[in-house]
Amino acid sequence: KEAPLQKDDVSVPKMPPFDYSPPPYNGPSAGEILAKRKDYLSPSLFHLYKKPLNVVDGKMQYLFDDEGRRYVDAFGGIATVCCGHCHPDVVDAIIKQTKRLQHSTVLYLNSAIADFAEALASKLPGDLKVVFFTNSGTEANELAIMMARLYTGCQDIISLRNGYHGNATGTMGATGQSIWKFNVVQSGVHHALNPDPYRGVFGSDGEKYAKDVQDLIDFGTSGNVAAFISETIQGVGGIVELAPGYLPAVYGSIKNAGGISIADEVQSGFARTGSHFWGFESQGVVPDIVTMAKSIGNGIPLGAVVTTPKIAVVLTRRSYFNTFGGNPVCTAAGLAVLRVIEKENLQENALLVGSYLKDRLMAMKNKYEIIGDVRGRGLMLGIELVTDRQEKTPAKAETLHVMDQMKELGVLIGKGGFYGNVFRITPPLCFTKEDADFLVDSMDYVMSRM
Ligand code: PLP
Repeated sequence: KEAPLQKDDVSVPKMPPFDYSPPPYNGPSAGEILAKRKDYLSPSLFHLYKKPLNVVDGKMQYLFDDEGRRYVDAFGGIATVCCGHCHPDVVDAIIKQTKRLQHSTVLYLNSAIADFAEALASKLPGDLKVVFFTNSGTEANELAIMMARLYTGCQDIISLRNGYHGNATGTMGATGQSIWKFNVVQSGVHHALNPDPYRGVFGSDGEKYAKDVQDLIDFGTSGNVAAFISETIQGVGGIVELAPGYLPAVYGSIKNAGGISIADEVQSGFARTGSHFWGFESQGVVPDIVTMAKSIGNGIPLGAVVTTPKIAVVLTRRSYFNTFGGNPVCTAAGLAVLRVIEKENLQENALLVGSYLKDRLMAMKNKYEIIGDVRGRGLMLGIELVTDRQEKTPAKAETLHVMDQMKELGVLIGKGGFYGNVFRITPPLCFTKEDADFLVDSMDYVMSRM
């Protein structure tokens, strides 16, 4: 079946063929689920579309709704599905492990956790080789921040305006957007100017923004800090690639102030940027702690903190563990993910298809005034919509409209940025050029009718 608009209009772009039909769905309708959600699920939850989508099947870069309609998942879950939905190798690994041992605690030995830790460490540079598993990105960042404070004996954390690091109090503190923050105690965090080449005050001059971090150290702290934490491409913040030269200068200032550097690779890790396996590599730095989640298990709840033996030792001062972190089913999935990325050359694909898609989107920018900026790397791309290019006025309503219409055509994309006016394109890394063409042609179709 085709997405709703496809059947009515012969001029609409056609979705690339895909040889798979999901089994028939006999479950509750979207309306029934919505009613339950209203009564039994947190009112904080929101859905993206005017007419909510009831997703019942997933296969590689595609999702299927309750009527068997296929959609290109160009959001990739939320940048979580790197190998593709229900990738057979990942599913096999999960089933095999589930049949054998579904749960084991860190109190006993089990090879699933040790094998994955070893494989993960082999993907990291320098002395980054000690892994602590968590269940989410939030937990990973909470732990990283705590480790930095314990290791340095300092409390001050520096993070970026517009960054996103999680939804518990420590990570909410490090997050730099009011829309994701509640008024609860989040002490000890200083937010530096965002090195945002599009909206930032210093354009693409990374070293000028880095001076602001030095100023924060000099004027806002005792001169010593615990850590600097940032993403290398801000995801939730609207796919903002940090200005070139920023991280080397900041990591230098932090080191001089006795602090350590934490790279939050929750969205930008696992080959997504195409040019490198980790986002931080594009700035030529080596952090002291790397945090990860999302793609690590292809969407399975799993996160990790990787650090050096010297820093990891701080956790031995007390008893510290995590009941589900490193669950063997999740780590078996993680190991399968690393193998699939390698076997299927997903990093190379992210680079090739991502560059192709970015070029096509840049060409669209020349066609439509509403596209203020196209940015990002590999298969982590952002498209910022503005009603006035000079003023960079966020085109919030138009963003929602385009997203909604693209969904009707069969393309799911994400949305982010402080003003909610940036499309986030973070598909599974098996995304093809044909999928990219379909995405751009669909956006063109919708924009040409606005
Ligand atoms: N860090 C980054 C960069 C994220 O994008 C997110 C989630 O979107 C998090 C941390 C928090 O991860 P989680 O939602 O798994 O707790």
